Amino acid sequence: MTLHGARERRVRTGGVELCVAELGDPARPTVVLVHGYPDSKEVWSEVAGRLAERFHVVLYDVRGHGGSTAPRPLRGGFTLEKLTDDFLAVVDAVSPDRPVHLVGHDWGSVQGWEFTTAGRTEGRIASFTSMSGPSLDHFGHWIKERVSRPTPRGVGQLLGQGARSWYVYLLHTPVLPELAWRGPLGRRWPKVLRRLEKVPTGDYPTPSLPTDAAHGAWLYRDNIRPRLRRPRADAYAHAPVQLVVPLGDAFLSERLYDGLESWAPRLVRRALPAKHWVPRTRPDLLAAWITEFATATEGGRPTPGDGRPATEGGRPTTEDGRPTTGVRGPYAERFGGQLVLVTGAGSGIGRATALAFAGAGARVVAVDRDPESAARTAELSRDAGAPEAWAETADVSDEQAMERLAAKVAVEYGVVDVLVNNAGVGLSGSFLDTTVEDWRKVLDVNLWGVIHGCRLFGKQMAERGQGGHIVNTASAAAYLPSKALPAYSTSKAAVLMLSECLRAELAGRGIGVSAICPGFVNTSITSTARFAGVDAEETEEEERRRKKTARLYGLRNYPPEKVAEAVLRAVARNEAVVPVTAEARGGRFLSRFAPGVVRALARAEPPS
Ligand code: NAD
Repeated sequence: MTLHGARERRVRTGGVELCVAELGDPARPTVVLVHGYPDSKEVWSEVAGRLAERFHVVLYDVRGHGGSTAPRPLRGGFTLEKLTDDFLAVVDAVSPDRPVHLVGHDWGSVQGWEFTTAGRTEGRIASFTSMSGPSLDHFGHWIKERVSRPTPRGVGQLLGQGARSWYVYLLHTPVLPELAWRGPLGRRWPKVLRRLEKVPTGDYPTPSLPTDAAHGAWLYRDNIRPRLRRPRADAYAHAPVQLVVPLGDAFLSERLYDGLESWAPRLVRRALPAKHWVPRTRPDLLAAWITEFATATEGGRPTPGDGRPATEGGRPTTEDGRPTTGVRGPYAERFGGQLVLVTGAGSGIGRATALAFAGAGARVVAVDRDPESAARTAELSRDAGAPEAWAETADVSDEQAMERLAAKVAVEYGVVDVLVNNAGVGLSGSFLDTTVEDWRKVLDVNLWGVIHGCRLFGKQMAERGQGGHIVNTASAAAYLPSKALPAYSTSKAAVLMLSECLRAELAGRGIGVSAICPGFVNTSITSTARFAGVDAEETEEEERRRKKTARLYGLRNYPPEKVAEAVLRAVARNEAVVPVTAEARGGRFLSRFAPGVVRALARAEPPS
């Protein structure tokens, strides 16, 4: 996607001429995208293309960058006051009668904070989405607080951010940055972005990079020292703010945004596992978040945190007093708006997982071979808070059905951000009693189902190149042998190994893989599990064993909701192998450090 087809115009203001590009229908609400350093408006091309379907999208080259002219002299020409004049001139030209939705990345976000907190822009901004660029005023207060009341934690945070700001000191040296950018650094920059930031090649960076970077050094020189020394005391946001925090940002610590609610009471937080250049590496998710936030503000729907009573720290709270920084729950920042597909979602762990993601504001696709239970999960997901939820029927062991499902999901809902391969069936009984047919059934669902899911949806994730996560439900049986469950345990051990191999393969693409290993969880798996060696005629015997197992699982009474919590945590933290329940954790410990004990236990007689 490029800015080809964009309409360009020039806007004159304060001795410079700004190059402004527009996409989409001007009658729609306007989104203004402001780029950072060392960039030009093209950094937004991927996001802009996606937004143009719903919005009037406006991008401009900041003065001295891209197609905009530079102030003369450069020194003093890049103050936040002058940049605010530019923004207002652009807004006057492109959306004179309606406030705009402002989005900024890096220095575009630093500017955005200035625009959103300055008195003279009040009424001109409908919402602000900020990524990777704090308000210099808030940052100034953040430093002052930690210097005036030093605590070990505060000093650690100061040092941490100080170390990440190495380039800021360099940019304050005279002439050197200009020489570097016009010379070797400018030539190597595209490669650096590709290698360190995993920015895909395309129409970015543009040939104007060396000049943009040389001029942009004045953004730092004109603003950083004066603002950090004397931050404004009244830098309160007059519009709702959506804060997007890339968790792997090499330049900015997450801690910078602690307590931001006191400056921006109508704050929505989003977090994503990505590095600094998210407009290039995560355009799908950003476009979805910007759309959702702008649409909510346009529709007059309250954005989360809106109008809620503030606690002492100015943090908004829900009616029952819980702090809320995003949609709901501890994972709302991370999963809000993401597309999550869960297989075996009609019951037990799968349903609980779908509902937990839904509660965090994710969009959910509930897949099960049983259409009614999948539909019920989708319905419950909407009740739990999913902005959208769909039910799909598929047997995960059926190659063609899974291919049809993957194609349909990609076309109708998009590329999934989180895939949970959870569908599974139980089978107990000794190896000698297990027939070839028994083996096929359990391997087809438990192993092939996971292979199909990873193969089809994992491929889409990898091809999109915007990261993602795959969760495979294995079991503690994956690492605990037993003479009672040879086929089931083998299928789960294979799932565990597949997950480990895939994790290694996909790490370089920003896709995490986790294997979840629950112990005994109280679900209906016991009522559907089969018992090898029990003849079809012996249904009474099978029923008796089933009831007995169900009673044991019932006595253990570990709820599937707790496994779901572990799934969300595993994705948020990108954990590799996650034993859930005390017996699963204990078993994992023994299998590593006392395998002899595990082998002895494997010989124990199963309850009959
Ligand atoms: P459950 O029986 O409550 O739910 C399983 C769901 O998967 C059902 O809705 C079922 O219709 C669906 N399903 C089964 N085969 C399918 C197929 N071929 N295609 C599509 N959907 C299918 O069981 P649960 O306990 O929630 O199990 C979920 C996963 O957790 C399974 O992989 C299971 O092996 C694993 N697990 C369960 C426990 C436990 O104690 N319950 C322990 C460890 C691992």
